Amino acid sequence: MSSISLDTDIYSSLFELWSLLVHSLDLENMSKSGNTSPVPRITEPVQDPKHVYPPPPPFLKDVHYGLGYYAPTEEVRKLTLEKTLSYLKIQQSNFLGYQVNQKMDYEHDIAPYLNIHVNNIGDPFADGGLTTNSKLMERAVLDYYASLWNAKWPHDKRDGETYWGFSLTMGSTEANMYAMWNARDYLGGKVLLWEETPDSHIIPSAAADFLPPRLVLRQAPLPKYNPNAYTPVAFYSEDTHYSFAKAMSLIAIKTFYELGMERYPNDCPLPKWRAKGRWPEEVPSEGGGGGEGTIDIAALKELVEFFAAKGYPILVSFNYGSTFKGAYDNVQEAGEQLMPIMKRYHLDERLVEYSPGLFDKRTGFWIHVDGALGAAYMPFIEMAHERDPKLIPESGPVFDFRLPFVHSISMSGHKWVGSPVPCGIFMTKTKYQLSPPSLPEYIGSPDTTFAGSRSGLSPIILWHQLSELSYEDQMKKAEENEAMAQYAYDKLRGLEKKLGKDLWVARSKLALTVRFRQARPDIVKKYSLSNEILIVGNEYRNYSHVFTMNHVTTHLVDALISDLSEEGAFPEFNLSKASAIIKGFTDTPITSAQIASFVPHWGRGYSG
Ligand SMILES: *Cc1c(COP(=O)(O)O)cnc(C)c1O
Repeated sequence: MSSISLDTDIYSSLFELWSLLVHSLDLENMSKSGNTSPVPRITEPVQDPKHVYPPPPPFLKDVHYGLGYYAPTEEVRKLTLEKTLSYLKIQQSNFLGYQVNQKMDYEHDIAPYLNIHVNNIGDPFADGGLTTNSKLMERAVLDYYASLWNAKWPHDKRDGETYWGFSLTMGSTEANMYAMWNARDYLGGKVLLWEETPDSHIIPSAAADFLPPRLVLRQAPLPKYNPNAYTPVAFYSEDTHYSFAKAMSLIAIKTFYELGMERYPNDCPLPKWRAKGRWPEEVPSEGGGGGEGTIDIAALKELVEFFAAKGYPILVSFNYGSTFKGAYDNVQEAGEQLMPIMKRYHLDERLVEYSPGLFDKRTGFWIHVDGALGAAYMPFIEMAHERDPKLIPESGPVFDFRLPFVHSISMSGHKWVGSPVPCGIFMTKTKYQLSPPSLPEYIGSPDTTFAGSRSGLSPIILWHQLSELSYEDQMKKAEENEAMAQYAYDKLRGLEKKLGKDLWVARSKLALTVRFRQARPDIVKKYSLSNEILIVGNEYRNYSHVFTMNHVTTHLVDALISDLSEEGAFPEFNLSKASAIIKGFTDTPITSAQIASFVPHWGRGYSG
């Protein structure tokens, strides 16, 4: 279809294009005369989309985005693409609120790859038939992180202690979901078996002789002595990313809250909650909304012990660089305190009997580390600290495969590393994959990953970035980001003094983020700040935060401080109890219907 020339001033919206199209064709006559209409069978808009969609930013007000029957003219297309690019570049130049690194230089090396469909479908360690893949780079990237996270590498399917993982198409959300899925089946007594005698109802026995054995996922029968043996129960803190609430619902894992409310409403081991006849929705964080953002290990222990004692397998997810406060859970200490509980209730090692007399030996717990942000750079902070403790006085808690109880780790590639598309890494150990027992030469299930098609571009981008930087460079980058966070903190504290107003400025230990009293909406938009409501004591407080990713300069921080120095930069927010209930902040139930799952629609810094 050739395009017609349109005056963009007049035909500025999809709707107007549509009106033009519909009214310029004599549809009625065409159908009467039996002519085939040139109009494809599609729906027309019932109203102008621009009256229903959120208004565009002023810069893009007159840009034509409509698509349809007539392709826009080359002139219009060009203008739209140029204006959109200019807008994104403006926003990028002031970007401060989210933990994504906007500093990258991919156009020279990566652009030529954009004209090839690169797809890493299937297992990273199996070649497969789709040969336009980047699995050679993917394996190198996985090995890089395996080494950095102290896993045994390279991956070897015959050695259960070696790592296994894959490069993500989404960000850490995908890795977290995959981890939860793997954990659910592993703890839930699922076994992957070769079906020796094909089901005669499905396959006639004569034909069965010619068929290769099938792999089937089977459920081990419940042991008589423990009805809870295959019901995993999940624990994560109130500072956890909202993808976990989604994962619990999607992958159908019960949290300790759900199981607690359902089966043991009056027995919560935390006295404050027991007194109310309730359970907390998530594991409390130390100091609540006013604290650092790390998980309360003492509370976690009590909650875990309650369920471990009743025979439930335990699934814990820790944060390493939490979404709003950038806090690092002390994975080492928490794990070390949980292990005696696992031992006491025989969850450190248990036998899953899948057929009479046939067992698979497994842990009865799974510990996941959501290192979306921190897993990327904290190893370099640790390296720098070990080399020169005077220069780098602190490093974060150990979180990686040096800890024998860690089962899996997630990391986003577009956060600290920097990438134009969401990407990242999921990593576990080969022995935790569901694979047929007693078949060491098993060739690997070809469909071991989450998606079907997997981004082949992501490993190329990650490889590109990692191949440019030595460990020296990485240490320097991490140190500079930490120093920039301290700079932003100091500047905000300075502003606080100057204004004589408590701005609630806070930075959790070694975090790349600083939080403060929520700024005026136009400042929030300009710097893409991210907002969050925290309960501090009995007060609901509206916060903004900045993340000092690699593109952030002192100049940019100074510009923000200058805008925040203006009259009225910090409006008052009066979050009433009623709106707090709607936002899901209080424990006052709004209806008596039982909660099926939490639907994240606010908070954790991503709701804006
Ligand atoms: C960003 C983030 C996620 C989700 O990662 P995506 O890459 O956005 O999918 C998960 N957990 C934490 C702690 C995060 O900060």
